[in-house]
Amino acid sequence: MVNDQAVKTQKKKFETETKQVLELFAKWLYQNREIFLRELVSNASDANDKLKMLALKDESLFAGDADLKIWVQYNKEANTLSVRDNGIGMSLEDVIENLGTIAKSGTKQFIEKLSQEQSSDANGQLIGQFGVGFYSSLCVSEKVEVRTLKAGLPKDQGVFWSSNGVDDYEVAPMELQSRGTEIVMYLKEDAKEFLDEFRLRKIITTYSDHIAYPIVMFVEKTLEGETDKDQKPRKEIQEEVVNQANAIWTVPKKEIKDEEYQAFYKHVSHDFNLPLAWTHNKVEGGKLEYTSLLYIPTEAPFDLWNREYKHGLKLYVQRVFILDDAKNLLPTYLRFVKGVVDSNDLPLNVSREVLQNSQTVDMIRSGCVKRVLDLLGYLAEHEADKYQKFWDAFGAVLKEGPAEDFANKDKIAGLLRFTSTKCDSEKQTLSLDQYIERMAKDQDKIYYVIADGYDSAKNSPHLELFSEKGIEVLLLSDRVDEWLVSRLTEYQGKSLVSVARGELDSNMKLDEKSEEDLKKTEADFEDILKRIKESLSDRVKDVRVSKRLTSSASCIVADDDEMSANLRRMLIDSGQSVPEMKPILELNLKHALLQRLKSEMQDDKFADISHILLDQAILSEGGSLDNPSAFVKRMNDLVS
Ligand code: ADP
Ligand code: MG
Repeated sequence: MVNDQAVKTQKKKFETETKQVLELFAKWLYQNREIFLRELVSNASDANDKLKMLALKDESLFAGDADLKIWVQYNKEANTLSVRDNGIGMSLEDVIENLGTIAKSGTKQFIEKLSQEQSSDANGQLIGQFGVGFYSSLCVSEKVEVRTLKAGLPKDQGVFWSSNGVDDYEVAPMELQSRGTEIVMYLKEDAKEFLDEFRLRKIITTYSDHIAYPIVMFVEKTLEGETDKDQKPRKEIQEEVVNQANAIWTVPKKEIKDEEYQAFYKHVSHDFNLPLAWTHNKVEGGKLEYTSLLYIPTEAPFDLWNREYKHGLKLYVQRVFILDDAKNLLPTYLRFVKGVVDSNDLPLNVSREVLQNSQTVDMIRSGCVKRVLDLLGYLAEHEADKYQKFWDAFGAVLKEGPAEDFANKDKIAGLLRFTSTKCDSEKQTLSLDQYIERMAKDQDKIYYVIADGYDSAKNSPHLELFSEKGIEVLLLSDRVDEWLVSRLTEYQGKSLVSVARGELDSNMKLDEKSEEDLKKTEADFEDILKRIKESLSDRVKDVRVSKRLTSSASCIVADDDEMSANLRRMLIDSGQSVPEMKPILELNLKHALLQRLKSEMQDDKFADISHILLDQAILSEGGSLDNPSAFVKRMNDLVS
């Protein structure tokens, strides 16, 4: 007789990525092994949440058992530890998808990054950001078995999954009596420490105290005053709830310890690191009633810049989990925030579509934004080190703010940090308020230069006159900066102005004598400028005398209403088509090359030098030449 079960058993290889992640975890998790329990409990809690949510629409899914729990049980004889829930469960397809692959976007890049990092410390940080999840159970086990039955499916559609965490896993159908998932770990020899009631209690209260479901352990209790037949105190195995089992955000602030907030953060965020800061607020009595518990992480997650990045806010309605990745509750520029919003005003059957057009959601959202910005403002003012940490991790994201959130533009602008010609490193530490505070009385603008890297910004020829006059210029080189300055055009009544744009302003004017000198030289050069313009007529819109250059020969500038060269390059890089645009070439008449042009009679030589002036200006701005070999040839001719 053929064993039906054996026939249906499938052996499957782990995906390469899964295998790589498993190997990395095995190495790194060694010192942090206990978190496997947190991860499994967290999954069980998610599974209960999901069932509760679905049962709002279809109560039959509960099948008479709406008392959702999580059980943790150990067995010293069998060397096993198990975590069980009566939540949503998994179908065969679910199991193959969830326990054989790593669905997270960006996993490939993440693994590449991990294998490049040398120190294991750095790896720890990175893995922490990744969230280890179910696979961490394999790190403490010789073998892991999963038995699971999805809510609503018949008993014979249960699934058995088993793996030793090396190359492959087995899945097979299995008859199961009740819905939910059980994970059984056959512990490794060196992981037997986890077969201990007190150790397990400690881990659970440390990491999972405020999981909203009771975590039940089977413990041996001595029965008071009762004895067995040998007159010894009678003992009995009893179920005991070992966690507080209340949703932390419903507890009054005063009663919550920092450690409890931190532990809950790890549960919602799957992050290993402690949160940098949090804000916990109850709004009630007015038009709205909701609670928010919002965290700012310490480290940026590896996939922060992925298009499909999951937002970290979970929405609950009257303590029932509704959805995670609640994008409508916070704007994109605050996508790094993790936490929970629990509303009493939304219907329990609220869908993503409804969320999009809900006034209640809009009001909650602006409340949450205010909380986060206030928290950041507080850190900036009172905990500068922490704020700097925040800025280093998420500053580039916050810079999207002024464009996305007009109403809070000024508040966000006050939180921005930059580096400048007067800061001595690339590190962004300068606020706009500080900039304004230290500028000269007659300066009425905030100046910036924008380039594709810190070095090219710092060495931009556009800065020459500014350095000479001691005027501070912000050095912008994050990708998002173009976007930022296109929307943030003024702060505290001072306009933000590019040093590479248009004509210079009043406080940059030359003194009378220099002005006169310049006029004279300009007259001298009138013909020359005309000739240069003719030679370059295909490539430039205008040629004019520069007031901003003191040592370089030339630079290019954009008109006030035109796209900067840097923005053009960014758009082209990202595959967009941009209209043809010719720059304005500005020349430093005192430079030797210009003097040389004055005496150059030969037309072709003259044209060569004109092109060199333009090419140099493009290069020093961080641009690239359409025809670099022509430039090299002209340079060589000039030198020889
Ligand atoms: P994450 O929880 O971050 O999604 P995990 O590795 O912890 O990653 O889990 C992978 C997936 O496996 C989960 O998203 C879920 O779909 C499924 N899963 C894990 N544990 C359970 C469980 N106890 N009940 C139902 N599904 C589960
Ligand atoms: Mg998980």
